[in-house]
Amino acid sequence: MNPSDIPILPLGSHVSMSGREMMLGSVREALSYGANTFMLYTGAPQNTRRKPLSEMRLEEAHALMAAQHMQPFVVHAPYIINLANTLNAETYRLSVEFLIQELIRTDGMGSRILILHPGSHVGAGAAAGIESIAKGLNDVLSASPNVLVALETMSGKGSELGRSFEELAAIYDRVQRPERLRICFDTCHVHDAGYDIVHDPEGVLAEFHRLLGKEQIAVFHINDSKNERGAAKDRHADIGEGKIGFETLYWFVHHPDFPDVPRILETPWYPDPEHPGKMRPPYREEIQWLLTANRPKTFPRA
Ligand code: FE
Ligand code: FE
Ligand code: ZN
Repeated sequence: MNPSDIPILPLGSHVSMSGREMMLGSVREALSYGANTFMLYTGAPQNTRRKPLSEMRLEEAHALMAAQHMQPFVVHAPYIINLANTLNAETYRLSVEFLIQELIRTDGMGSRILILHPGSHVGAGAAAGIESIAKGLNDVLSASPNVLVALETMSGKGSELGRSFEELAAIYDRVQRPERLRICFDTCHVHDAGYDIVHDPEGVLAEFHRLLGKEQIAVFHINDSKNERGAAKDRHADIGEGKIGFETLYWFVHHPDFPDVPRILETPWYPDPEHPGKMRPPYREEIQWLLTANRPKTFPRA
């Protein structure tokens, strides 16, 4: 087969953005994995300290992306945002404010998709949490550029909302501009939430399509899971080493209905056999396995 006949599958991983290189370093990291797309956080996911766009080396990053024919990239909002918190008004207010800033940053960095964890109701109940998320999104979307907010499917750990497709649909129903919403479908989270993607992936996607519409999927997070289906745990495993398994993850990556949807690995780093005491990213080999279906039966991992 001629290289130009191979369809381009947008496949990459989470990459870091830090130090002097900032986004230029993110692009270089993605290329080092053989990726053609990537996901980044605009700063540490646990805090709100952010560098100005002028220090992110955006022009050099985009020049390198263009030279390497890379696909569009996506941005993930930090975990501290919780639009579902109705018990602490200050957390909610800061979440709305910071999310507006993140959408402006995402736009300025040249991405049109910001991934967001819908939120945790922290004891107030799912109904109150969903109303609060919708209210927050309405405020945020009317005050920010035309970037899409991709609500992530969640495992249901703690009081997380977005565990079921029904909860995500309830958010869509309450948002004034649902055309600004999309979904990030995380295979580990959907499995941990209880959907049987191992035995019936087509059935799970059909259920998703009935409630939300499969065209709403704007990103896939491709992760294996350390836990049994329905565990509501959210612990990612490396590809083929968890309870989901290689075959199912390969099936999602190669699904023909999502040609332009980025597939992003968020699998854990593992101890480097060549450098004791150091960790290494699994992304380069996992991307190769997922592209070629050749995953070695034994591999150099503890
Ligand atoms: Fe996430
Ligand atoms: Fe995820
Ligand atoms: Zn997760």
